[in-house]
Parts: sequence; structure tokens; C-alpha cells
Amino acid sequence: MRGDESYAGASSWKRMYQEIHDLTGFEFVLPTHQGRAAEKILYSHLGGAGKIFISNTHFDTTRANIEYSGATAIDIPCRESHDNETDFAFKGNMNLPALSELIAKHGASTIAAVILTVTNNSGGGQPVSMENAIQVSALCKKHHLLLIIDCCRIAENAYFIKHFEEGNKTKSYRAIARELFALADGCIMSAKKDALVNIGGFLALKNKELASACTSALIITEGFTTYGGLAGRDMEAIAQGLKEVFEDDYLTYRIKSTAYLGNALRKKGIPVIWPIGGHAVYIHAGELYPHIPAHQYPGQALVHELYVRGGIRAVEIGSVMFGKYDENKKLIPAARELVRLAIPRRVYTQSHIDYVIEVFDEILSHKTQTKGFRITYEDNFLRHFTAHFEPIA
Ligand SMILES: *Cc1c(COP(=O)(O)O)cnc(C)c1O
Repeated sequence: MRGDESYAGASSWKRMYQEIHDLTGFEFVLPTHQGRAAEKILYSHLGGAGKIFISNTHFDTTRANIEYSGATAIDIPCRESHDNETDFAFKGNMNLPALSELIAKHGASTIAAVILTVTNNSGGGQPVSMENAIQVSALCKKHHLLLIIDCCRIAENAYFIKHFEEGNKTKSYRAIARELFALADGCIMSAKKDALVNIGGFLALKNKELASACTSALIITEGFTTYGGLAGRDMEAIAQGLKEVFEDDYLTYRIKSTAYLGNALRKKGIPVIWPIGGHAVYIHAGELYPHIPAHQYPGQALVHELYVRGGIRAVEIGSVMFGKYDENKKLIPAARELVRLAIPRRVYTQSHIDYVIEVFDEILSHKTQTKGFRITYEDNFLRHFTAHFEPIA
């Protein structure tokens, strides 16, 4: 409520800048109205035809901004992420041998950036280990590649490192986050995630020339350098949120309540991505509905079931979101047919979550009669945001 709404140099901006600078160590901070605006600014500057971006997994808006620039986005999740049975805690890791191979194959000058998404939102919400981040960073340094952290869930990722990766128990969550940032050349954040706010984002960079180039785009598309697309109250809230998100009570409740939902669904025999990540439970819709082929979108069928039967809104992360077409307009399916149940922070009580768990009994009892969908309308980019569907009779 005390946001300073001055056009330039608002005290709320100074607070936001100070907080981000202190957390990330990056000198140049560009405020934006949300994460994808920061992506648009940085990746259209770095991208373009012939360029390649490499990530553990590009988030959908990240991939879209890269592809919109004409560049190519390559996902290289770690090997362990393909085995759903093991308890390995860091399935968000990047595949290091694959990174080396891609560098050798394409050459460093073709690679616009390496993006480490923490936690790995499109891949199960699972964390990246400090060890993996250190090795990715070392490879990037060796080949003079730009390393950007998509740090939307940096606090949740720090929680997993502290509790599940050896040698980190005595560090604070914030210190762990700082260590991660120190490995990179910059970061992009959607403040809607681990800054605990309704709107906002930023791009933070180490390099002055790169920051200057991005600043022109910021002013053209978002707003002046000391507010981006944000009101003073938003900037004030981001500064506060970035502090609160690292509180132990908050983080512990957050991670444990997500695991509570995931464990309960797994017990019912719902195929979930294992182990449960930080902000969401991911369901293998392709395994839940083996009778629905990829081109009939089993994930969309589950999203539909959840909404119609339970009023529960989820999102498909499968061939609707990441499918492509070959020359003959035949679907090239996504690697996995997932549905994400993302849990808003500080919104639900345990009884809401218990309700969700109960709805899955109904989902299971209608499992074999559940049918797939066909797409009747779609856009070229991010089609899952606006596509229309019709049930297959
Ligand atoms: C949400 C998100 C984004 C995009 O941020 P918006 O604020 O929604 O534009 C980018 N990357 C990841 C990993 C995200 O979770």
C-alpha cells in the first residue's frame, strides 16, 4: 500500500533493485510486467535464424519466444528423468554428456545461450542439484557460452538442495540461491512464482553491453527502466516477496503440501512423476489412459475430466503444448503426455487438497470410458493457450 508511483526513480524500484541485486549479485536489473516479457527482450536479442538455445527443459513461453525469433530450442533433461521408478531427487538436472555433444556438434558460436530452469517446470517441477549447476557452468565458461538461469522457483530449488544434496545442510536457502546465481551470467524471473506476487518479472544481467542492448527493447515494449511494466506497489511487493519466500516455515509447508497431494495420488495408483517436485504434481496421462493415442491427446482428456467432474483446473503438458507437425501435417508427439496440477501459493487449505484427491476416485471409475479429443482450431505459436477441441465420439 506504500508503493511509490513516481514515474522515474521511485523508492519502490530502489527497494526492488536492491533486493534483486543482493540476491542475484547481478548489477543490471530490468523490471518487466512478467517473465515472458523478459524472455522476449533477451531471447529476441540473442536469437534469430540459425541460433540454438539449450536447456534442461525450456518452459513453454521460453521455447515460444526462442522459436518466434527464428532460433531453435533443444531440451536435454538428465538421463535419470526418464526413469520414473527411482527416488533420485534431482531429476531436473541437465544432461551433461548431451551438452558436451551439442557444443561439439554445433560449435559455441551457434549457441546463443544455455538456460538452466530451476526447478524444471515443464519436466516435473523437479530440482537441479548444485553439483549439476556447477558442471553446467564450468562447461559454459570453458566454451564462452552465456548461462542464464530461469529462476522462477529458485527458493523451492534451494529447499531441495539444502535437504537432499550432501554438503548443504548448514547453508541458508538464500545462501544456496546466491551460490546458484554466482554460477551464471544472468537470470530471468517470473515474479508470479517465487516472488509471491500477482504480477511482475525481471531480467538481471552481469554484462553491461548486453544489458544496454536489452534496455532499448525494454523501453520500447515495457516501460521506463525504473518500472518496466510495473506499478510501484508491485515493485514493493516483489521486494518483500523475495524475502519471505526464503522463510523456512513457508518453504517447508509449500514443499510438504505438494508432496502430500502427490503421495496420495500415487497411493491410489495414479501414475505421477516421481519423486514429487516443488510446486506441482504431474500425472502421466498417457499411462493413465493407454487406450487414448497421442494424437487424441490423453492429457487434454484428463484436464477435461478434472474440470467437468471436479471443477479442478489443470494444464496439459504434452502433445497439445509441445507437439509439432511433420511435412504431411502428421503429429510429432511430445516426449511425454503430462498433466500438471500446479498449486497456487498461500491459497488452499488441506481440505481443498483432500477434495482434489477424492475427485480422482471418480476419474478412476470412468477411466476406460474416457475419450480423446481432436483440435478444431489452433494458432502457430503457443497453440495450447487458444486451441479449441471437440471430443472424439
Ligand atoms: C511461469 C514461467 C515463465 C513465464 O513467466 P510468466 O510470468 O508467466 O510470463 C518462464 N519460465 C518458467 C520456468 C515459468 O514457470
